Amino acid sequence: MGEEDIFIAKKIRCTAVRLLVWKEMHHFDYAFSLSDLEERLYTIDKSSLFRTIMLFKEKEMLHEIDDGSGSVKYCICDCTDETSHQHHVHISCTHCKKTYCIKTLSVPFVNLPKDFEVDEICYIVKGTCAKCKKKR
Ligand SMILES: [Zn+2]
Ligand SMILES: [Zn+2]
Ligand SMILES: [Zn+2]
Repeated sequence: MGEEDIFIAKKIRCTAVRLLVWKEMHHFDYAFSLSDLEERLYTIDKSSLFRTIMLFKEKEMLHEIDDGSGSVKYCICDCTDETSHQHHVHISCTHCKKTYCIKTLSVPFVNLPKDFEVDEICYIVKGTCAKCKKKR
């Protein structure tokens, strides 16, 4: 699948800015924040960058992660099953403060008592990433 195909699949216009942002998002090997993107895409004004992220999120092209760092992180959604936009596990490194996707691990299903309703499950593992582990 080409990078433009996602725009057709999601029924949104493939503008130059959207394509640029989408391509840039694929260069991260960790979950990125708005400021991570701003650093790399300094030619795009901040408000249109933000709006693009919001659109991608709304179209479920991204997963949003709250890793407790104070800034929201995002990663590209490559869920194969469209009916379950199932989040994967993330590990937040306490050394470099980066949050990595563990796409091979799904967030476990939580069976709450009947009178409760789940909106979202955040599953963050705190630890040391592979890069930081090597440095020790
Ligand atoms: Zn997803
Ligand atoms: Zn690390
Ligand atoms: Zn992720």
